[in-house]
Amino acid sequence: MAEKRDYYEVLGVDRNASAEEIKKAYRSLARKLHPDVNKAPDAEERFKEVKEAYDVLSDEQKRAQYDRYGHIDPNQGFGGGFSGADFGGFGDIFDMFFGGGSRRDPNAPQRGSDLQYTMTIEFKEAVFGVEKDITIPRTETCDTCRGSGARPGTKPETCSVCRGTGQQEIVQNTPFGRIVNRRLCPQCGGNGRVVRDKCATCRGTGKVKRQRTIHVRIPAGVDEGAQIRLSGEGEAGSRGGPPGDLYIVIHVKPHEFFEREGDDIYCEVPLTFTQAALGDEIEVPTLTEKVKLRIPAGTQTGTYFRLKGKGVPRLRGMGQGDQHVKVTVVTPTNLTEEQKELLRQFAGLSQESAYVPNGQSETLFERMKRAFRGE
Ligand code: ZN
Repeated sequence: MAEKRDYYEVLGVDRNASAEEIKKAYRSLARKLHPDVNKAPDAEERFKEVKEAYDVLSDEQKRAQYDRYGHIDPNQGFGGGFSGADFGGFGDIFDMFFGGGSRRDPNAPQRGSDLQYTMTIEFKEAVFGVEKDITIPRTETCDTCRGSGARPGTKPETCSVCRGTGQQEIVQNTPFGRIVNRRLCPQCGGNGRVVRDKCATCRGTGKVKRQRTIHVRIPAGVDEGAQIRLSGEGEAGSRGGPPGDLYIVIHVKPHEFFEREGDDIYCEVPLTFTQAALGDEIEVPTLTEKVKLRIPAGTQTGTYFRLKGKGVPRLRGMGQGDQHVKVTVVTPTNLTEEQKELLRQFAGLSQESAYVPNGQSETLFERMKRAFRGE
């Protein structure tokens, strides 16, 4: 079989393409290559290739896996490649990622599977970092037999049927010549070794399921979707192979007042219209403290003020982002008769020219008047 082409290349999209772009590229190629329409000899093959690429890249999890591991060699016994996961016994939050490993050499050490854990943290925990203990179910090498599966004091024996190769050859003599078929050894299941006297702890499997508590340090400045890799904290390997890795995927809870964009923080504060008109000094909450902010006279609603260095610490490198404060002028509602009377007097005293915004030469009223005149 020919080398598989890169899925992004097959669909003709960028590696950062959005789900929407991927769908669009697939639809247009599928229309062009559909065997009912396209009679070119390779159309059907290409259609299948495009379909396979789309099946993977349109599925968020499969795409992430493909981005990390690329094509899984179909000779390794995983068929389509992405069916290797075994969800047996794990909770919802827990996905097994990749059942990796080769079946070609039954005695080769096999690396353990990677695990993924989604951790939900508070907004400020993401900003300042946090340390947490998580408990995950995982497969570990059995301590009693150190993974051999044999009762302490005994050893696994080389399989007598396959002599340790893990494969059985079936030779058939046919009129066309000798045909040699290989299959997994039925006695040892491809392991090449047989445990006669099984370890009582793991019942001969060499592995045990455990609830393991792991201390996780989340660095200051992480953001939604960040991944933290804990090397060697995944599932146990086989036959002396190393364990897989544990990936912590960060989900950050939204905050009711602060919003975050990269290293910058955004918030919105209310101003009364007298504060906006006359100017004032107000207090604004930041992530760490209260700070004073001077509002100049004649501030319009929607104006942004910047509090330098009051944002999120940068994950890589020095410094931190800024906090952007948007002021919103709130219109008073439950006015008393006396207040209404004062406002009527105020309106009577005010000319349109009182509403020229700072730094501009004309009011919005003037522009509206020109629009009324059809200009
Ligand atoms: Zn054991």
